[in-house]
Amino acid sequence: MQDVLTAASPRWALLAFARLRSLWKRWFLWLILAVLVSALLVTVVWLAGRHEVEQVQAALDRDTADAVSDLRIGLQRNAQSLRATQASGLDRTHWPEAAATLLREHREWLRLEWRDAALRPLESANTPYRMRLIDEESRGADQTDVALACTAARKLGAPAYSPSHFVPVLGGGGVEVMELCVPIDAGGFLVASYSLRDTLIELVGPTLTRGQEVAFTETDGTRLVALGTSRRTGTRVFTSQQLIDLPGAALMLRVDGWRAAPDLFPNVLTALVTGISIALVSVLVLLARDTRRRLRAERDLADALAFRKAMEDSVITGLRARDLQGRITYVNPAFCEMVGFSPEELMAGSGESTEVPYWPTELAHEYQQRQARRLAGSMPPREGFESVFMRKDGTRFPVLIFEAPLINAQRVQTGWMSAFIDISEQRRIEELSRASQERLQASARLATVGEMASLLSHELTQPLAAIASYATGSLNMLGPHAKGEQAEVAMAVRRIAEQADRAGQVIRSVHDFVRRRDRTREAVAPQALVDAVLPLVRLQARKLGVIIEVLLEDRLPQAMCDRTLVEQVLLNLARNAMQAMDTPDNAGERVLRLRVARAVAVGGTGAGAEDVRRWLEFSVADLGSGISEEVASRLFTPFFTTRADGMGLGLSLCRTVVEQHGGVLMFEPNQPRGTVFRFTLPAA
Ligand code: ADP
Repeated sequence: MQDVLTAASPRWALLAFARLRSLWKRWFLWLILAVLVSALLVTVVWLAGRHEVEQVQAALDRDTADAVSDLRIGLQRNAQSLRATQASGLDRTHWPEAAATLLREHREWLRLEWRDAALRPLESANTPYRMRLIDEESRGADQTDVALACTAARKLGAPAYSPSHFVPVLGGGGVEVMELCVPIDAGGFLVASYSLRDTLIELVGPTLTRGQEVAFTETDGTRLVALGTSRRTGTRVFTSQQLIDLPGAALMLRVDGWRAAPDLFPNVLTALVTGISIALVSVLVLLARDTRRRLRAERDLADALAFRKAMEDSVITGLRARDLQGRITYVNPAFCEMVGFSPEELMAGSGESTEVPYWPTELAHEYQQRQARRLAGSMPPREGFESVFMRKDGTRFPVLIFEAPLINAQRVQTGWMSAFIDISEQRRIEELSRASQERLQASARLATVGEMASLLSHELTQPLAAIASYATGSLNMLGPHAKGEQAEVAMAVRRIAEQADRAGQVIRSVHDFVRRRDRTREAVAPQALVDAVLPLVRLQARKLGVIIEVLLEDRLPQAMCDRTLVEQVLLNLARNAMQAMDTPDNAGERVLRLRVARAVAVGGTGAGAEDVRRWLEFSVADLGSGISEEVASRLFTPFFTTRADGMGLGLSLCRTVVEQHGGVLMFEPNQPRGTVFRFTLPAA
């Protein structure tokens, strides 16, 4: 078992590998196509998505840049308007009014201060729009943010800003503030404190804060103030930030925009592409399935075709198809072999004329008419008809033809289909069997006549002898010297005696002639004897439904006999046996057993104690009606028969023949019923 496994597994593996390879070959292109289409679709969807994202991002960047430029312009204008307050000269009396006007116009400012060159506050004003946030005490000269801004402003000779700083409010919270310092011509500075949050509100368009978050951050990203809608969950964030660099300070403007839920189909284009992709993949799948179905159908068709071809090639019946014009459209190999023409010769020959090369020239006209009748629609006989064809070498042979209309799938007749059986061999056997039957029948008649002659001669000898002795007696009574009428009577009686003697001689010579057959003895194999009668026996057996069983012992010696007579004996016994089984009340099986064996001891006419010849025993057993006591006692009597058409000579002839050979003929009941007839013959 182990060995089988190890021997089988490499072969199995090879087979599996080969199968895998063919599968791979078949599906390789489909696989590549599927992968490419999927890759294409994924790329297109991804590109569409990215294009969308880029567009959103670009719009945001544009908005942010606009906002930054708005801011920058706004801040610049603020610085200019602050600077403009000193144009008419600053004095303490006008300060409160001027400052109030400015603070009203610029709500992003929390406070205005006028400081001297040493940054000491001279005047100040707080915005009326807010609670006071900045206390006066802490706004001294050493206020760092203001100092930083003003130092830068002095250096530049232009407005400058401080970095943002946090101003806490009482009760928690606070405000991010940035200082603007503008140097004035008379020495000193004007300082405006920006609330970063209000700057966003005032200087950035309200559209930007709609749906987005706008914030100021430090350059490192720390968020200072923010404005606008805060982010909703399930959204995708787009961020854009740009630097606003101001003299003395740098701020970042950061805008966070978001799109509602990161869509699977962000826009129509992507949806369209996705839809087309799905359709494409579906078509691909359908196509693959269709191809698989086609492949299977192709394989089935190829199998069916191969099977049909094998069938056509191996069938021994000749097949031929003709179209409705009588041209041959198909012939199978068996037909070609039968007539000796190649398919090309057969089909080319029927180009214009419908005459074919296998028609015997002398019958072509008749066949032509037959074909014309067929093409005109006359139906051929179902049981077929016989015809004669001609082989390529010119020899004629008989064929049995079966013809039927050729109906196509649309149930329309497209021609005629014919099957041919070469019956020359069948004819030869029939001829042979008929000849041997005639021979046997003739010899049977002869044997019967012989037997009758022999019987007659036997039966007639005595009356003739009686006639002769009566004639002699009469002559004696008339005396040698009879005169007149007596002499005439004596003459007639002498003639009677002469004629009786002649009749005796005729009978004896006939008897001698019949017995002369004794001399025609020869050594014949038992098999040959049996084979000679079997065809005739079988013929009758088929008619009566009898099964024949033949049993010959191995290595039997030959029989020394008159072949024709012994065949006659066998035939007679077999016929009797079959007739005995052919009764209306015999419902059992009908079996005739013909057996030839070596016989050990034999009691025969010529057999004595000194008889050391070997013998053969032939037996014919039937399952028939059997032989009753009454019939048995008269069985071998000449002319005894129980059948209406019987002669009653069969068995007596058999006995004569067997006894002439020195053998014996006997019979006994068979088991379970019927009779066994046995006879012996000397071995050669
Ligand atoms: P025939 O066959 O002409 O009748 P046969 O001499 O061959 O003359 O046979 C004589 C009779 O013997 C037959 O009519 C039949 O009644 C009987 N007989 C012969 N063979 C058998 C047998 N095998 N079984 C039964 N009866 C038989």
